[in-house]
Amino acid sequence: MIKKLYKRSPVLLQNIFVTIENIFVLYKKYKYIPLLDSMAKISQDVVKNSYMNKQHTLLDRINKFSEYATSHTVYYKSKKNEYPKLNSLDEITKWPLLEKEVLKAETETFYSSEIDSSNSRTLHTSGSTGSPMKIKVSVSDLQLRFRLLLKTMIEFGYDPLKPMGRITGHDISDEDVIYRKDYLNKHFFLSAFHLSQDNIQKYYDVIVDNQLETLEGYPSAIYVMAKLFDQNGYKVECVKNVFTTAEKLHEYQKEQIEKTFGCKVFDYYGSNEQSIFIFTCKEGRLHSADATGLLEVVDEDSRHVQPGEVGSMVVTSLTSHFMPLIRYKIGDACKLSEDQSCGCGNGGLIIDEIIGRDEDIFQTIEGNYITRFSVVLKYLPFDVIESQIVLNNEKLLIVLYYVANKMLIEDLFSDFEKNLISKVGTQYHIVYKKVDEITKTSRGKKRAVIIED
Ligand SMILES: [Zn+2]
Repeated sequence: MIKKLYKRSPVLLQNIFVTIENIFVLYKKYKYIPLLDSMAKISQDVVKNSYMNKQHTLLDRINKFSEYATSHTVYYKSKKNEYPKLNSLDEITKWPLLEKEVLKAETETFYSSEIDSSNSRTLHTSGSTGSPMKIKVSVSDLQLRFRLLLKTMIEFGYDPLKPMGRITGHDISDEDVIYRKDYLNKHFFLSAFHLSQDNIQKYYDVIVDNQLETLEGYPSAIYVMAKLFDQNGYKVECVKNVFTTAEKLHEYQKEQIEKTFGCKVFDYYGSNEQSIFIFTCKEGRLHSADATGLLEVVDEDSRHVQPGEVGSMVVTSLTSHFMPLIRYKIGDACKLSEDQSCGCGNGGLIIDEIIGRDEDIFQTIEGNYITRFSVVLKYLPFDVIESQIVLNNEKLLIVLYYVANKMLIEDLFSDFEKNLISKVGTQYHIVYKKVDEITKTSRGKKRAVIIED
């Protein structure tokens, strides 16, 4: 109903709708009514009163959290004696690990008895890796996470009072005018659907005319924009920060975005289950925030890995009161940084790379594991705007789908092919297919790598 009304309205009215909606969203996030200068108040308050890491209070916070869990949820109540009080953080390894399968099968036994319709929200995890789960989050935990995110963005260099552009997957614009705006907060919502060679001038114009200082969105969308600016020789100097989230930020995407906009890229990671918050500091490194919980990184025998090693992420999430996650194996892996000190002073665990559970790990028929496709994808011809590589062992087939303004002859792919073969071996048949667009997952995300077996 509202959607129909919106679609029939003139752009001016649509902008007013967007302004009102955005004010509502900002209110839900920060519990402030963002009228007049209150965005300034939010940021001052957040910078002053939020912290990322307070290691000396972590033990106490974790003990309190487990007390909450064992007294408010059916699941932990029944296992109360498996969660004795900890005298040091190291003792946490005595508590059992929680596997995703258990959480999925018994989701409702994890819900807190305090949940009601006004103090909680229900989030749905994406079904890309199996059946979706209903996640319950308390409003106050959710607001804490938004405040932390805002704080880390400000530390990185974001000024919430300057105009920003968000590349949105919501269908709110049209081909003629590819953006809508929130008048009060200077937020511009640029359509992710109309990014193409034909429209790229419009994106350039809205960014430059309005001097957008920050861009935010899926890395795949911002990468395409950067690539098209580059191919058309457009120089953008006003953008100072680029924030990416929700999809894996690949190294080649990061390089292109940094090259086009001449700025650093801020990536952040928060799992669907609201379990952990990992952010980029101003030095460009990834830190875990112990304000949201304790991150452990473990090997196959559940032992903590050393700096420089890869392991599974295990999270005790202090922002999951309404669905407590204690030593939860989220399913994603990460590489701990060899050097665990950083000049930014933020603390937490320092991470080199997050490796998603459902992407990027391909085992060739010879048994070799390939985890970093970025190093291959960066050899794609310059004219490729977007791509997706689909690997299939059963058919011994690798298909590279690409979007470009023209058909590209196979010779242009020789550098890419050479690098790919050096990783996967010579048994695979490699095919190139030009497509109009890359297919998205049900949640509108794009995946650079798909493994079919
Ligand atoms: Zn740092």
